[in-house]
Amino acid sequence: MKTGVIFFLKMTMLLTVAVSVPAASHMDVYAAEEVHIVDTEEQIYSYGEMVYDILSLTAKYDEILSFERLTKTSQGRYVYLLKFGNPDADRKILITASIHAREYMTSQLVMSMLEEYLSEYDAVQRNGKSYKDSMGNLCFYILPMINPDGVAISQYGLSGVSGNKEKEWLSNKENEGYSLTQIKANAGGTDLNRNFPTGFGTDKNKAKEPSLLNYPGKAPLSEPESQAVAEVIDEIHFEACINYHTQGEVLYYGMIGNTKANEKKNDELMRIVYKHTRYYPILPKDMPNGSLSDYFQRIQNEPSITVEIGRLENPVPIDQFKAIYKKNFPVWEELAIKYGTEAKK
Ligand SMILES: [Zn+2]
Repeated sequence: MKTGVIFFLKMTMLLTVAVSVPAASHMDVYAAEEVHIVDTEEQIYSYGEMVYDILSLTAKYDEILSFERLTKTSQGRYVYLLKFGNPDADRKILITASIHAREYMTSQLVMSMLEEYLSEYDAVQRNGKSYKDSMGNLCFYILPMINPDGVAISQYGLSGVSGNKEKEWLSNKENEGYSLTQIKANAGGTDLNRNFPTGFGTDKNKAKEPSLLNYPGKAPLSEPESQAVAEVIDEIHFEACINYHTQGEVLYYGMIGNTKANEKKNDELMRIVYKHTRYYPILPKDMPNGSLSDYFQRIQNEPSITVEIGRLENPVPIDQFKAIYKKNFPVWEELAIKYGTEAKK
């Protein structure tokens, strides 16, 4: 090959690389100069973007991040499970997000927190330890978007859904004056966080038919999404569970019917999350109502907390993201120290 041709090819490659790197000037939340994969500037963080980010992050950090597709939804999307940290660790923590559709900022939060932990994994932090030192005895199992079909409806309305049956009940809701941005359910109108067996169908706010919110479904685990999550909870032992939601800057922790030992563990978990977020802690006044958190505590006899990252408005406006991120980011490291490092001593 002629030198001129090689030079031309090299320049083309350089230009291609330069063009494909996104601008990072806005990323003051993160360490300086980093180019980030997960976008935290746009209101809509879609399923497609998340999948792209999962593929990019697992390619970049393949030793400490892997993924599985647990199940296919009725709309043909997948429920993803990410495993972050030491894959051989016998101690694990379960992290869940976007089981409620309109609360999709929780996916963006979990994915961007994950990216920062990945990119800083070996770097020594202010406490003199790397995240690897703190997190090395633990593996985080992360479900970043349990309800991808519902998220697409909240983000794109009727154009986010296919199928005549689905379009019909959703357009009926629109005709009744509801905004599809407010959907919590999946595309079939089942609230996945009411579809678990523990206390199924006892929620006093329950809807009697498919609805944007509060319909528990035909039967416990009638939906592929909740079935897939229940299988993970049935098969793997976790030290704790963190469920990200967005309503009211509060922490719901524990469950009526827990053992004394698990009540104490719930209290310890709440204190870690409260220390950083200052969200208001609330013990349950009502019996279990079919939520993932209820099911987790019943099966695992381990603590589970629901972290409501937003105020009252849903979907949470993106301009609140940076403040939310800052409060929530340190929690995972401290959880890893408590449930991994300290527990090993
Ligand atoms: Zn919720």
